[in-house]
Amino acid sequence: MHTTALVLFSGGQDSTTCLAHALSRYQRVETMGFDYGQRHRVELQARLKVLEEIRQQFPDWAHKLDQDHVLDLAVLGTVSETSLTRDTAFKMEASGLPNTFVPGRNLLFLTLAAAVAYRRGLEVIVTGVCETDFSGYPDCRDDTMKAMQLALSLGMDKRFLIETPLMWIDKADTWRMAQDLGGQALVDVIVEHTHTCYLGDREHRHAWGYGCGTCPACELRQRGYEKFTAA
Ligand code: ZN
Repeated sequence: MHTTALVLFSGGQDSTTCLAHALSRYQRVETMGFDYGQRHRVELQARLKVLEEIRQQFPDWAHKLDQDHVLDLAVLGTVSETSLTRDTAFKMEASGLPNTFVPGRNLLFLTLAAAVAYRRGLEVIVTGVCETDFSGYPDCRDDTMKAMQLALSLGMDKRFLIETPLMWIDKADTWRMAQDLGGQALVDVIVEHTHTCYLGDREHRHAWGYGCGTCPACELRQRGYEKFTAA
């Protein structure tokens, strides 16, 4: 029986839902984020605000919430040309992948997460990757996660479980999962305080939260929210 978890927590809708999932399930939960020079660095502030709101509004969860880790991954910006770290427009590449794809990003995130989980004695690594309606990032796929679980468990000689609660659901169901886990209060925290927009826009407030409203991340969040509230 697993009792401890490390959540890859970026401060967005998906990872906040994953955090709620972990807090409802495990006894000790830690969080981890990365600073890699992302254009939407505002998410680094958003994640602290979300943690604070969870501590204040969810007493049943607050006592389970342990350390938060933020790692400097500036090196990622030096090895990849991508619209997440450079000031270029979002577009699809000839590979069929959007130019927001940072090759190997999630592989690196998971490897570092496992290293921290090892040190902190955490058994489960929770990540909000999703194969259903995301941009087709190959490092978010279920097979990649299974391969990473095996590689990390073998390579560190410790049994890790990589848990992906959002893998097979769409964005509307992600909102629904948040509501099931934490009620309207959690939905409100997600709308008001999580950050998804690739451009880091915190000026424009929509029913579904803050963002430019036109980047791929905003469009996905908006569509999911509208489907969720229409149901
Ligand atoms: Zn946006």
